[in-house]
Amino acid sequence: MLVTEIIRKKRDGKKLHRDEIEALIKGYTKGDIPDYQMSALLMAVFLKGLDSEELHIWTQAMLHSGRVIDLSHIEGKKIDKHSTGGVGDKISIPLAPVVASLGVKVPMISGRGLGHTGGTLDKLESIPGFDVNLSVERFVEAIEKVGVAMIGQTEDLAPADKKIYALRDSTATVESIPLISASIMSKKLCEGIDGLVLDVKVGSGAFMKTVKQAEALAKTMVNIGISAGVKTVAVLTSMDEPLGWAVGNSLEIEESIEVLKGVGPKDTTALVEELGGWMLVLGGVARTKDEGVAMVRNAIKDGRGLRKFKEMVAFQGGDSLVADDPSRLPKAKHRHDFCASRQGFVSKIDCERVGLALCALGGGRKKKEDKIDPSVGFRVHKKIGSHVAEGEPLVTVFYNDEDRLKECLDLLKDSYQVGDKKVRKRPLIIRVMN
Ligand code: URA
Repeated sequence: MLVTEIIRKKRDGKKLHRDEIEALIKGYTKGDIPDYQMSALLMAVFLKGLDSEELHIWTQAMLHSGRVIDLSHIEGKKIDKHSTGGVGDKISIPLAPVVASLGVKVPMISGRGLGHTGGTLDKLESIPGFDVNLSVERFVEAIEKVGVAMIGQTEDLAPADKKIYALRDSTATVESIPLISASIMSKKLCEGIDGLVLDVKVGSGAFMKTVKQAEALAKTMVNIGISAGVKTVAVLTSMDEPLGWAVGNSLEIEESIEVLKGVGPKDTTALVEELGGWMLVLGGVARTKDEGVAMVRNAIKDGRGLRKFKEMVAFQGGDSLVADDPSRLPKAKHRHDFCASRQGFVSKIDCERVGLALCALGGGRKKKEDKIDPSVGFRVHKKIGSHVAEGEPLVTVFYNDEDRLKECLDLLKDSYQVGDKKVRKRPLIIRVMN
């Protein structure tokens, strides 16, 4: 099969056959097809797209490029959740243990920070000793014994995605709905799950800036899930402002624990309830989403979610005492208040800039090799619609390095808009698609 012929076909907007797609993904993963040919093909896909049949085959080929975990011997439904990425998005950390405490198994393979968005693995690693690199065997054991585990992608899970994602990152082919969908869904489907809840973020801090784009992404991913036999629900949620009050790795762990103790921020708690409600429906333990929401609330109220969190942390080698004493988490040395230059109402937050400001501070990566400082971050005091007096703090910055603080403040400076009128923000939960 001539690779140039396949590239030409897609370049001219023609449909690829199953054997062509399978040979491409296999050949590239094995190293038989060079980067320059795969780059050309990815750009052709970026420009011409893939129809639903091509996309199903593409995703399955990526999924079967490595190992597919078999959890069928474990009793109960296995349900996961995935977010397309945001700022202050710590939802998975309280959500997974709460859902597991209600009898649904949660095998969660998470990611690291990407661009301005934070990553669950980076947050978890701020818990002293927490190991996100469990082998697949130990991961399966955790699901059997604890009911939940949160790990990173291992070398043998969807290796095609690892290679293709790195190439997309350096060939301007990331922002493509079929390529994003295949990338996310191939990683999720190899977990051996029965159901998946997708949190598709929309707004200034999300990859999808408009509801229309987010709907298209959600619909594409739901269709891939359903055609693979996995019940899939997508919830479109607002990412116009950071979620909760904490942004930064160890600060977000502290806030996740607050959610599990029932004293977390309203928005974060509401999203844990909504997504948890859907996971419980897919897991067959709640008849309706509202019944699921009530179950999540109870598991937070009676401490079951927090106990399961401690169990998960202990199984993965982490210091579970952080749940009782957050001072055991890494702490930054200094603090600085970033204040409003005028009085009025916060009318807009450029949430992507807030995420980039965290990267500048050392709390995220600018390059793949960068090491994260888990202790730095922000406490957000004002969100869209909040009243602010001149000189009042908008954000407190926790930092360790003066040069990094300066770079961070330069980014924060243009991230807040303050106007005369109080604006209405869009609802946190925009719509559900299934
Ligand atoms: N997250 C992924 O895993 N893949 C993408 O392509 C984009 C976001």
